[in-house]
Amino acid sequence: MFTNPYAWIEESLTTIHRADWYRSVQTIHGLPGATVLLEGREVINFASNDYLGLAGDERLIAAAKMAIQELGTGSTGSRLLSGHRELHRDLERAIASLKQTEDAVVFSSGYLANLGTITALVGKRDFILSDLYNHSSLKNGAILSGATTIEYPHCDIEALRIKLSQQRQNYRRCLIITDSVFSMDGDLCPLPALLEIAEEFSCMLLIDEAHATGVLGNTGAGCVEHFGCTGRQLIQIGTLSKALGSLGGYVAGSKTLIDFLRNRAPTWIYTTALSGADTAAALTAIKIVQQEPQRRAKLWQNIAQLKQVMQQQLPKLKLLPSESPILCFQLPSAADALTVGQQLKHAGIFAPAIRPPTVSTSRIRISLMATHEPTHIKKLVEALSSISTQSN
Ligand SMILES: *Cc1c(COP(=O)(O)O)cnc(C)c1O
Repeated sequence: MFTNPYAWIEESLTTIHRADWYRSVQTIHGLPGATVLLEGREVINFASNDYLGLAGDERLIAAAKMAIQELGTGSTGSRLLSGHRELHRDLERAIASLKQTEDAVVFSSGYLANLGTITALVGKRDFILSDLYNHSSLKNGAILSGATTIEYPHCDIEALRIKLSQQRQNYRRCLIITDSVFSMDGDLCPLPALLEIAEEFSCMLLIDEAHATGVLGNTGAGCVEHFGCTGRQLIQIGTLSKALGSLGGYVAGSKTLIDFLRNRAPTWIYTTALSGADTAAALTAIKIVQQEPQRRAKLWQNIAQLKQVMQQQLPKLKLLPSESPILCFQLPSAADALTVGQQLKHAGIFAPAIRPPTVSTSRIRISLMATHEPTHIKKLVEALSSISTQSN
């Protein structure tokens, strides 16, 4: 007698509910922006990765429409078969110019860029060192590659050094992988120290600039530029879907690296090319990033403003260290985070509760945009104050 082989799924869901880990979608209507319609009600949007407010920008929309008219909707095949267009190459050149690297290659998402790159670079005989707080795409890329993977404590260079001195010699190649802006915390990786240690132990270094591109650095090139490390040998991954307001991912680096990935990254070779609309929108976004530094300046003004007001008026909130538009405050439990998230929503503020298993400690995650107005930030602080007085 066998039991129903699918019965465990419902039991598993029950466990997820019991732990307050259950996830569900919330419907947004209309254009993305600093305010959005959430389930029929206007709320101030602190939940978006659209840092520069480009996802609803009329220039990106116009570029995407024109590309659809000229190239159609689907790209019909992988880049190596029927899918490659001049527009893809234009976008790759623009990314390489923004990043000041020899070349770049675009993938259909940032997640796929990480999976494909890590699996192409290392295998069974190799070693990966991965920051404990890395994004899921880096962690799963490491698993998929088959390399021996060790997680080092978050941003802990000394721990990394100890692991390398003990184990580096047992492996052929070694790859260190890290977020540059940590997506659920908002702090930065110690890039100069990582580059130094990578050199010392002959390791490749891969950094994921998903939340940094368009946001950090003088020209918006990211964390690499922010730390003055432009031109150093490393592998930069990123997404077109955050500050660039489109969809897709990329890898930027040396000509040899990019040429190699076009031959070996399975998530590039065996998947359909980016659509014309996404490609054109991202290309327009990069031009805007380069031509309108005032957007980035406005974003950083908003960050400074919110941090200052929160420290003055809400000193009891446990703000996590951040050097990015991502600001989180910690809460004791997943249930507390959910309650505060709900209370904020009732007050017209959209800021998500982030819970395990995404992170180890529950929190509310606030992300700022260049298009937030002072009144938006004021209302956020008011809502947070009234919630923290209620719970005391
Ligand atoms: C969002 C994100 C990705 C995935 O990018 P997509 O283009 O959305 O697939 C990868 N890495 C990090 C750090 C991210 O935050």
